[in-house]
Amino acid sequence: MQSRHEASTQSDNLQTVRTTVKRRRERAAYDRATVESILDEALVCHLGFTLGDQPYVIPTTYARVGATLYVHGAAANRALKGLASGLSACVTVTLIDGLVLARSAFHHSMNYRSVVLLGQARPVTDLEEKRAAMVALVEHVIPGRQASVRAPSDEELRETLVLALPIREASVKIRTGPPIDDATDMARECWAGEIPLRQVADRPITDPALAEGIVADPAAVTYTRPGTNS
Ligand SMILES: Cc1cc2nc3c(=O)[nH]c(=O)nc-3n(C[C@H](O)[C@H](O)[C@H](O)COP(=O)(O)OP(=O)(O)OC[C@H]3O[C@@H](n4cnc5c(N)ncnc54)[C@H](O)[C@@H]3O)c2cc1C
Repeated sequence: MQSRHEASTQSDNLQTVRTTVKRRRERAAYDRATVESILDEALVCHLGFTLGDQPYVIPTTYARVGATLYVHGAAANRALKGLASGLSACVTVTLIDGLVLARSAFHHSMNYRSVVLLGQARPVTDLEEKRAAMVALVEHVIPGRQASVRAPSDEELRETLVLALPIREASVKIRTGPPIDDATDMARECWAGEIPLRQVADRPITDPALAEGIVADPAAVTYTRPGTNS
């Protein structure tokens, strides 16, 4: 298994017919490095799949290790069980970088970076890979946290279903910059511009049940998300 965030040796172009962006093609990217940078910065993915004739889109935590995206949950988890049985998956990840205020309601927008990833997941049965995936899932959310927590027991590992989705077929769409207004609106007396948004952590709140004398974990005290300068 590759170490966390190790550069992948797989194909660098993740574009296929199914992942080709149709509108605003200039905002699209298909290179692995851009896909990976968005996956590593975001916290939550939305896992899409179809059971019978009903589509579901379920939010969940994930982690990337090399060219693999891992998700996990209870062994009885319906979404994960379905995906483990070979259902096709569509995973989306979105970062909101700002709100775009135009001179018309029509042209209001958002600055964003998003990934759509297609593929089929496999259940992780190899215990070493499963442990490493669990470490990656914690470290993706709170880098440095793994060092101070109890590792999963064999029982906990058995109760957890971990799925591995190869990062092979994907697209990125990125919007940046000011509003794009109609020429006829440019002289309107209406403020236009961008409100940048970012993920910023507030001060950690200690568990009221924490035993006395335990100092705060640096991983919590200095917590920032990648891509923010807080
Ligand atoms: C930020 C975030 C991170 C999460 N990370 C994980 C994770 O790492 N592992 C994990 O197993 N679960 C995670 N969850 C919870 C996950 O979204 C599901 O609730 C859970 O995996 C399965 O629930 P279930 O088996 O009851 O639902 P399912 O059987 O999958 O769904 C049954 C129905 O429950 C409803 N439902 C299920 N989940 C949600 C939801 N989140 N919000 C609203 N309605 C819902 C839907 O109507 C769905 O059709 C996370 C949720 C969030 C918001």
